[in-house]
Amino acid sequence: MTRAGFVALAGKPNAGKSTLLNRLVGQKLSITSPKPQTTRDRVVGILTRDDAQLILLDTPGLLDPRYPLQQAMRHAALQALADADVVIHLADAAEGVPPPLAEVAGLHDSPRARAAIIALNKIDRLSAEQRLALTTALPDAHQVSALTGEGVAALLDDVTRHLPESPLLYPADDVSTQSVRFFAAELIRETALEQLEDEMPYSIAAEIEEFRESGSPVYIRAIVYVERESQKRILVGSRGSRIREIGRAARLKIESLVGAPVYLDLWVKVLHNWRRDARALRRFGYRLSEEPTR
Ligand code: GDP
Ligand code: MG
Repeated sequence: MTRAGFVALAGKPNAGKSTLLNRLVGQKLSITSPKPQTTRDRVVGILTRDDAQLILLDTPGLLDPRYPLQQAMRHAALQALADADVVIHLADAAEGVPPPLAEVAGLHDSPRARAAIIALNKIDRLSAEQRLALTTALPDAHQVSALTGEGVAALLDDVTRHLPESPLLYPADDVSTQSVRFFAAELIRETALEQLEDEMPYSIAAEIEEFRESGSPVYIRAIVYVERESQKRILVGSRGSRIREIGRAARLKIESLVGAPVYLDLWVKVLHNWRRDARALRRFGYRLSEEPTR
């Protein structure tokens, strides 16, 4: 009998949730960034072993919603927690013993998952003494490094033990329930974020307008949206130099995703204040909840 179920990765922004998801699935599914709040939607990765299948949900930030985009992010995160059989509460080991997840998530009660497992991440940055102190303070917590992979196999075994007995829920060779289109758009957004440094991380959205896989190269027309003309000028760069460089770097990433040569036709458009616009948010695939802003 196999085990199968939903596993949500929760925790403060920057704890390393997306890095751990990619490490578990063995593939780059979730964009990672030193800037907090870069994961927007629920990314669903699938990990299939001989004895088990884990459907992994990466939760975007559980921050206080101040505008509709953040409200949609919080809704997605809470939904992932509600759907989960196991919640991995990931925390930065350098910050010591983490507060309870309910507190991190701003919830009244603990999430309803069958099991919550604490994993302290980034132990590659800790000294032996610091690790020992954490072992003493939290003997049940896993100490892991999503970056190097240390401790991840043991964490995975523990998570698997807590899953319900069930047949596999997805075909064994699937790595995600999201479409290649979704990931291509995410890779473009990630590349723009990398190359813009701190200039406008939250104002960027990417949308695939056309994705033709029949020919070679694969033809993709995509648009990067910003909120203001001034941001568009920055993104385009002098004589288009910056957007060309973003397009080149993003194309290389998408080529390794689809395993074929890609022609990426990349455009920049202004969609005024899209982050505050419910219609624009839905168009980019963000679900807005009925949850009132607190
Ligand atoms: P998220 O906001 O929780 O999804 O965090 P990310 O996965 O985007 O990671 C945030 C930052 O922490 C990135 O710069 C990662 O490279 C870094 N990071 C994640 N895991 C580790 C780890 O195990 N060790 C170290 N040194 N850095 C890590
Ligand atoms: Mg993330």
